[in-house]
Amino acid sequence: MNTIIIGNNQNFFLTLKKLYNEFEASKPNKVDVSCPFCESNSFNNTFSFESSDYRECEECSSLYISPRITKDELQKYFECLIPFS
Ligand SMILES: [Zn+2]
Repeated sequence: MNTIIIGNNQNFFLTLKKLYNEFEASKPNKVDVSCPFCESNSFNNTFSFESSDYRECEECSSLYISPRITKDELQKYFECLIPFS
């Protein structure tokens, strides 16, 4: 994955979106997770947005993303962000 340097410019969000799209294109590992609030595994699928599936917990009605990227994949994502100083 290419390293993108994010500076203080008006294209910040476009740059971040480009980086996110590249990250998703690399097909990062994702895992199913239970409800992060009550740990229930009962859910209803609701909708998908930006390559993420949103589930509604049947027990507490919380909305959460699952499957989600693993902690290791998340670290890779943030390693390509170099703050401009
Ligand atoms: Zn829940």
